[in-house]
Amino acid sequence: MIDLLLYDTYTREKRAFTPLQKGKVGVYTCGPTVYDYPHIGNMRSYVFSDILRRVLEYNKFDVTQVINITDVGHLTSDQDEGEDKMEVGARKIGKSSWEVAKFFTEIFQRYLEMLNILPSHILCRATDHIKEQIELINTLEVLGYTYKTSDGIYYNTSKFPEYGELARLDEKGLRPGARVAVSEEKKNPTDFALWKFSPGGIKRQMEWESPWGIGFPGWHIECSAMAMRYLGETLDIHTGGTDHIPVHHTNEIAQSEAVTKKQFVQFWMHNAHLLVEGEKMSKSLGNIFTIDNLVERNTDPLSFRYLLLGARYRTEMNFTWEALSGAQEALFALRSRMQEWTGEGVVNEEAEEKFHMAINDDLNTPAALAVVWEVVHSSNISEADKKATILMFDQVFGLNLGKSQEREDAPQEIQDLVELREQYRIAKEWQKADQAREQIEKLGWDVQDAQDGPRLTKKK
Ligand code: AMP
Ligand code: ZN
Repeated sequence: MIDLLLYDTYTREKRAFTPLQKGKVGVYTCGPTVYDYPHIGNMRSYVFSDILRRVLEYNKFDVTQVINITDVGHLTSDQDEGEDKMEVGARKIGKSSWEVAKFFTEIFQRYLEMLNILPSHILCRATDHIKEQIELINTLEVLGYTYKTSDGIYYNTSKFPEYGELARLDEKGLRPGARVAVSEEKKNPTDFALWKFSPGGIKRQMEWESPWGIGFPGWHIECSAMAMRYLGETLDIHTGGTDHIPVHHTNEIAQSEAVTKKQFVQFWMHNAHLLVEGEKMSKSLGNIFTIDNLVERNTDPLSFRYLLLGARYRTEMNFTWEALSGAQEALFALRSRMQEWTGEGVVNEEAEEKFHMAINDDLNTPAALAVVWEVVHSSNISEADKKATILMFDQVFGLNLGKSQEREDAPQEIQDLVELREQYRIAKEWQKADQAREQIEKLGWDVQDAQDGPRLTKKK
């Protein structure tokens, strides 16, 4: 048996993973705040959690994965100040907060599908779990962890001695050098809102009754409430981007452990950020891209997945269009090789072991991809065995390596159009898909939709 080694942010070490319950693993993945289009950086987070899930399954664990949808309470500043992102999003596009949440949740789900991310077992919304959140706040209050200010109920972080351990915050609870705006009523700079009151005289679009008055939950409490509701008081694994370490996840631990007096999470796993052309993604730089934007530029979304797999999840990664096009070339070359190989083969054991060692080394996907190319170039492995072996690896990669590339025979221009039409179909943009088909036909080709993808035939 090959140990599955995972890096845990809390202890800062890579160690062998064993679940709490034999054979069963619960994974909680912090989901998106659905007030805007998820960008390719956000999607890195979910490709990472998907690879994690697939690696766990490859190791024969029975996985339950929970992803939440943050549809209330995430304020424009992580320090409990500013407006609710949902209300800002609503104003921007002239819809209600509820419509905004629905709209962007559907887009998020569509992007998951386009990236071949397996559907999570549970997808839960913060607004569907207000009761659980109120109960948790109530318990925290009874245990003496809370206090009231003019705008809400706050968690008193000085009551939780281990506060900040995950992020190695210093004694005052501050990151060295960090400047934190402190509301005058907060007892400690790191205290955070559990429940916010609706501002006096203003009716919010999203608000609920509570023992403390009408209002809405703070952002962090939703994850503690939903994670424990679906996965129990101690989770095997909790994931998210590195930006969640100092505030969101630090606060989740404080809330959950204060109530249960048990360790909240066995393994904290965080993906590093994706940069675009060396810069942080931001509106002002105009470098925020979505999966739709990739498709508009003739990219198969799985080429982006391939690109991500070429770096380890814990290293910052720089996105460039050039690198993406290189990834697409490699992916298409691999798929067409697979199509050339025929016959019933068996998995090559030596290659499989190498692959397994790579993915079990804290999800070393670049090393696992290198094994694929070794198999492709090997002179000792038969073509049929190569195919069987690589298809097995694809259970983890999720790159649709068995996908038909028969259209390779058609000129590049036609292939590009077919690819484009496929993407429009995935995006349910039927009109644009039809236009692409018409253009393909005008150029003398017929396209048919077979079960394993589109088939091209030259018109007679
Ligand atoms: P949000 O919708 O802001 O809550 O973010 C959704 C997920 O994306 C979280 O796990 C974030 O940590 C993660 N994330 C945000 N920006 C990036 C980025 N540039 N690269 C990778 N992950 C990111
Ligand atoms: Zn969360």
